[in-house]
Amino acid sequence: MINIGFERIMPTPNYPHGTSAATLSGRSWGSQSNIVNLFKAEIKIALRKSQLGRCCFCRRLLYHDYATHIEHFVDKDGYGDYTFEILNLAVSCGTCNIKKNGHFSTWSTRFSRLFTVPGHSPVVRCPVLKAQLVAGAAFPNNAIDFRWVNPHVHNYSDHIEIDKGWIFHGKTREGMRTIRGVKLNDVGAVELRALAERLGTRGGRLSMLIGAFAELDVHRARDVAKVVVSAIKRRREANAR
Ligand SMILES: [Zn+2]
Repeated sequence: MINIGFERIMPTPNYPHGTSAATLSGRSWGSQSNIVNLFKAEIKIALRKSQLGRCCFCRRLLYHDYATHIEHFVDKDGYGDYTFEILNLAVSCGTCNIKKNGHFSTWSTRFSRLFTVPGHSPVVRCPVLKAQLVAGAAFPNNAIDFRWVNPHVHNYSDHIEIDKGWIFHGKTREGMRTIRGVKLNDVGAVELRALAERLGTRGGRLSMLIGAFAELDVHRARDVAKVVVSAIKRRREANAR
């Protein structure tokens, strides 16, 4: 099993100094106002800390600032009231954020097409919520309120297990839905390509082997061996030319 880092977001960050739910209420996420920019910058730092520097979905380490996204667990397009609700925010890697957004838009378009009555306003539904929320309702904070693994309320390892090679197993329906929705089992292939690139930049064969050893805590030995063999082969072919 891979070290997942954190089980759930703890402690819950407070509103950054100089901001509050009331002062942010009604503002748009994309507005360039100082208070929104301050909130985004500070909450990102606080969430990173509470998440021990890992993505809220795949649990890979987060890299530099631009590659780390602030994720709205309940989408802000459908539920604008929770745009600045801290219990609705987490940090994720760019890959997971983009995959989740893709899933959300396919899901909600399909749902809306099926349930909207012509001439009426479109029916909104968020895939992570058990029941839809009425306007002005407090943000739900119980595990049973969610269909997906919520990084603030669920214990990750009760729902998802990650094996070496970034293989995700769902232990509950919430876990399985999250894995499917964010396409978490695509992570393994991405990481293996990155590993091949990293090893390819190492000078000698010994250095490559040392690099390969360092990867064995997250990759399966047979996958690492395959990558090393093909890197050595490529190098041999390049030298023969
Ligand atoms: Zn991720």
